[in-house]
Amino acid sequence: MKALGVYIHIPFCVQKCRYCDFLSAPSTEEARAEYLEALKREMINEASAYEEYEVKTVFFGGGTPSILEAEQIRECMEVLQSHYRLAADAEISMEMNPGTASLEKLQVMRASGINRLSIGLQSTVDEELRMLGRIHTYADFEKTYYAAREAGFTNINVDLMSAIPGQSVEGWRKTLQRVVDLEPEHISAYSLIIEEGTPLYENIESYPAIPSEEEDRIMYQDTKSLLKEHGYERYEISNYAKSGYECKHNVVYWTRENYAGFGLGASSMVENVRWKNTDDMKIYLGQQELKEEVHELSKSECMEEFMYLGLRMMGGVSCREFLNTFGVSMDEIYGDVLRHWKNMGVLWQDEDNVALTDAGIDVSNQIFADFLLDE
Ligand code: SF4
Repeated sequence: MKALGVYIHIPFCVQKCRYCDFLSAPSTEEARAEYLEALKREMINEASAYEEYEVKTVFFGGGTPSILEAEQIRECMEVLQSHYRLAADAEISMEMNPGTASLEKLQVMRASGINRLSIGLQSTVDEELRMLGRIHTYADFEKTYYAAREAGFTNINVDLMSAIPGQSVEGWRKTLQRVVDLEPEHISAYSLIIEEGTPLYENIESYPAIPSEEEDRIMYQDTKSLLKEHGYERYEISNYAKSGYECKHNVVYWTRENYAGFGLGASSMVENVRWKNTDDMKIYLGQQELKEEVHELSKSECMEEFMYLGLRMMGGVSCREFLNTFGVSMDEIYGDVLRHWKNMGVLWQDEDNVALTDAGIDVSNQIFADFLLDE
């Protein structure tokens, strides 16, 4: 059977964080219930398209999926289990925010098959959390984290964010240290990007200064060294894991395996066709003509994606796999580009793999752009 990843989008949050430009918003209980009915309908209606697939990973993202009632989460899982072929060892993740799930809810989540949590902490400094408009304190996070362990979760990711306005190198070290002391299996560490249109962007002058380039560089180096020291392997530009705990669902994206997205605005890629669900809630609830931007990727586009998505992973991309997939060698298509960047010291290559060097990660966007082909 062919492998499939499933993404389920829950576009609700308790309140909007000041830096957030994701498809999410506060909502009423009724709105959530109505959405859940549409979501389950979509998953049931689409199931026949995936009869030949085995679901290897599921990711409930958002938004804040843990805002749902325990019963709603259980019902979603039941639809998946009864209409899709779920692998016995499937990785089933749910994003959550501190303070949105009691021990009882976590126990229901675990019992319904969810086996991985991704907790949005961002910072252990309460002042920074307040500034970002997060709904929780560090103490709330600790409570949620310990409750998750008590409920039986043995695979937990913690999301962290550097380059927050007013953040010091010391503050970032403290955040890292406190989190590694808790020994989560996985840590995602991103730099804050201040997106146009967000309250943070619009009022940036009223916030403390963002860390300087020099401070940013020190934070980046600290992240790498401290996490390495504590047994976290960096396996992707922003992701670190204890051995065997890499996020399988994210690897689906980077290795271009098939994935189906359900819910408002969810993206899919199946057999080299990409599409996106509508992000208009009214249309979504009507469950008619959901798919937009349907695009069959050309061979060139598939090769481009193979390179720039695969190179996000520290293991890089395999020349043998490129040849098997496209019937042409990587060297024939990208020989000049590879030689150029290898000479610059930002790519390395062994017999089969091509990957970014440490220096390459700093200029990865420039490198990735070079893998675009003229049609
Ligand atoms: S919790 Fe996440 S999705 Fe929700 S508003 Fe904050 S950043 Fe956005």
